[in-house]
Amino acid sequence: MSESLTFSQLALPEPLLRAVTELGYETPSPIQAAAIPKLLAGEDLLGQAQTGTGKTAAFALPLLARLDPAQNEPQILVLAPTRELAIQVAEAFQAYARFMPAFHVLPLYGGQSYTNQLKSLKRGSQVIVGTPGRILDHLDRGTLQLDKLRAIVLDEADEMLRMGFIDDVQTIMDATPAGRQVAMFSATMPSQIRAIAQKHLKNAQEIKIESKTSTVERITQRYVMLDGNQKLDALTRVLEGEEYDASIIFVRTKSATEEISEKLGARGYAVACLNGDMNQANREQTIRRLKAGQIDIIVATDVAARGLDVERISLVINYDIPYDSEAYVHRIGRTGRAGREGKAILFVSPRERRLLRTIEQATRQPIEKMSLPTGEVIEQRRIEQFREQLANTIEAKNLSFFQDLINDWREKLETTDADLAAALLFLAQKDQPLNVAKQFPEIREPHARGERPERTERGDRPARYERSGERPERTGDRPERGPRQRREMQGNYNTYRIEVGKEHGVRAGDIVGAIANEANIDSQFIGNIKLFDHFSTVELPADIPNEIFQHLKKVYVRKQKLNISVDNGAPAERPTYERSERPASDRPSSDRPGSDRPGSDRRPSGAGPRPGAAPKRRTRD
Ligand code: AMP
Repeated sequence: MSESLTFSQLALPEPLLRAVTELGYETPSPIQAAAIPKLLAGEDLLGQAQTGTGKTAAFALPLLARLDPAQNEPQILVLAPTRELAIQVAEAFQAYARFMPAFHVLPLYGGQSYTNQLKSLKRGSQVIVGTPGRILDHLDRGTLQLDKLRAIVLDEADEMLRMGFIDDVQTIMDATPAGRQVAMFSATMPSQIRAIAQKHLKNAQEIKIESKTSTVERITQRYVMLDGNQKLDALTRVLEGEEYDASIIFVRTKSATEEISEKLGARGYAVACLNGDMNQANREQTIRRLKAGQIDIIVATDVAARGLDVERISLVINYDIPYDSEAYVHRIGRTGRAGREGKAILFVSPRERRLLRTIEQATRQPIEKMSLPTGEVIEQRRIEQFREQLANTIEAKNLSFFQDLINDWREKLETTDADLAAALLFLAQKDQPLNVAKQFPEIREPHARGERPERTERGDRPARYERSGERPERTGDRPERGPRQRREMQGNYNTYRIEVGKEHGVRAGDIVGAIANEANIDSQFIGNIKLFDHFSTVELPADIPNEIFQHLKKVYVRKQKLNISVDNGAPAERPTYERSERPASDRPSSDRPGSDRPGSDRRPSGAGPRPGAAPKRRTRD
């Protein structure tokens, strides 16, 4: 956490300051504190940062500050690996520029109709955010002019490399004016990314937020994988299912402290918020009430909770992931005070998975995955709590007045003690019903790419297809190019034929990009691609839902409709091995029965990986 820096100290223009205040941002995140002054000064920048660190604002705010509002042609171009990220970044620009008059940002990605994109381009936009393939298409068609460009951002550069877009990125970079500013962000720094930085960045300032190693003891740490729109539901389950005395819930913004404490209050929790807008007296009063047990939960931002020392806090919930490991250690240190045991739970979205690993490495402690309490567990806990209350009441209270009443009612109502007790229990549990197992349906964990925008802040778009299974982790600076193990390709795969080939100028990267974006399949799950003259083949998971398969049929790559079908044997054409090291004999089989539906798992020998077959190696391009 940047200890004392404020956004106003960063010399951002007033409309941008107003926007971040309105969004509820209290302080710049570490990457923002480091990047904003450098980009404001017009320097090129190479930033190592992961999703969840606040990197979007780190480049969007200073570049917006340098924008010429009178000029309606593209001045900033952001290249992003996926359409989801392009949309998110465009939405972030829009949010930060909300007080800049006549501001326009345009996302451009594959799968969207050209007609609409052309209309929007004609209207004019100062900021374009796009996927490399579509941007290149527009440059080729002459529908996007970059001669007024002041800055280009490569967001998630390593991801663009992994998806095979890097040649397109280079071509686009070469098409931008020489004097433009360049900012490049990447979670990892493989050698190819460094090489691009060396080629295109001038005296680049490099920033990396170091994760300080620090150990935390006596705190049990767990995480839950979920989408942003599942967080509130998950929070109430955790609060129901976990044992705790008092709890602190960490969020990123002032507005979130208010919103969540209001929602919990409405559900009957004794809760208050703690944020940077509160004066010292209010803050102290809230802490006193927490210590005294008048409230059990506080919802706080990092800054507001700094130095908080309340022994009762036995559960820390990281509702929003902290920006770095230092903030994490600080947050969870609010529990386990005075030698007590503490618990910490972290909510992580699939896109933030890498940040989770960084935190684990820095704290040198595993953060165990947990599942959310089910309806049955919550029901059992409520019943147990009630029983405990009953036991305490029987032991501690003088109940003679009530015993007389019961005796009287038993006679008058001509009933039994059991019926009376059941009716009284029914009335007593109305505010906090005991029979609730079915009211808590299962919250399903999001899988794979998790590239969807989060519902709370970034709109809500349905994901079309997500492979189950976690995204394989990559480690450190391992070069992304070159042969590597296909650990993940051990499920059922089919070879599919698509109607775009070498004669249309297609490259493997175009195919990976189109399928990854259109079918929302992580590129790691896209297998060997063979390019023939008139068509290509690609290995894909056999269980693609029919809906996605039908959608892929209509997708265009290099102006050709893919018309994807399960490969039923290609004419003997010699492929170019773009993403495979397999020998030429390993061609699509011609004796394979055809099928136009996905999901069939007929696998002639040599037509791609067999289920459970040893992983193959491939080269990537
Ligand atoms: P990013 O790493 O750019 O994807 O940002 C992750 C999330 O952090 C987004 O939801 C942003 O709205 C939020 N965010 C970014 N900067 C700040 C900040 N300084 N204070 C609070 N929230 C922020």
